[in-house]
Amino acid sequence: MSRVAVVTGGTRGIGEEICVELKEAGYKPAAVYAGNDSAARDFTARTGVPAFKFDVSDFDACQKGVAEIQKELGPVEVLVNNAGITRDGTMHKMTFEQWDAVIQTNLASCFNMCKAVIEGMREREFGRIVNIGSVNGRAGQYGQVNYAAAKSGIHGFTKALALEGAGKGITVNAIAPGYVLTDMVRAVPERVLEKIVATIPVGRLGDPKDIARAVTFLVADDAGFVTGSTLDINGGQHMY
Ligand code: NDP
Repeated sequence: MSRVAVVTGGTRGIGEEICVELKEAGYKPAAVYAGNDSAARDFTARTGVPAFKFDVSDFDACQKGVAEIQKELGPVEVLVNNAGITRDGTMHKMTFEQWDAVIQTNLASCFNMCKAVIEGMREREFGRIVNIGSVNGRAGQYGQVNYAAAKSGIHGFTKALALEGAGKGITVNAIAPGYVLTDMVRAVPERVLEKIVATIPVGRLGDPKDIARAVTFLVADDAGFVTGSTLDINGGQHMY
């Protein structure tokens, strides 16, 4: 049986690789994206994975979008909350809009998407949810009070929902990636990036595959005993 796996932010970067790996592992992935239609078209042409456009920060859009996915593909049994943005700035310069956009897109989206699938997962007594956090939610980062708060919130959200889902066959885990080479990181100035790489013990940036592999492990049917955990995948940059 092919389980339907929704991956938010699935058309680019880490999300694309998650879709590819899940497809290879026998799942039926569906990617959600915000507005970059040409990237989404290229992604579907490359991978054969369908893309659905809606804003994960919009509660109603998520309920409608997930209903459409379920109508086309079947019940959603795997959800990967991966969509995320940065709007960096130090606190004294950060606007409310920067704060709010990051909290809504990175954190409120987890609530919006989980609400759309949780009833079905409870009824079927099976579900796999993986939330993508960040090393910067674990360690903090200069210029990112919005992003660090949202990502840190994801780690608490994960543990609370894991407790609620445990008796219903639903596991909820988080991954906290370190710096992974995607558009998000390509936007960081070269000299800053060099300094960042110098702090990573394995001496390189992460590859989207480093994260996708872990998602495939966490969503497997036989990973039912792994729940409420946060897996740090950061090349040794930050250890707990
Ligand atoms: P990218 O910027 O490469 O891709 C972002 C994806 O999210 C795109 O598909 C984008 O759609 C989608 N997206 C953004 N906003 C929304 C929205 N409101 N509604 C629906 N979809 C949306 O990101 P990465 O692959 O780098 O990051 C993926 C996740 O991993 C994020 O949560 C990020 O915070 C986290 N992360 C990344 C790290 C890194 O080093 N790259 C490190 C640690 C964590 P569209 O193409 O339409 O814009």
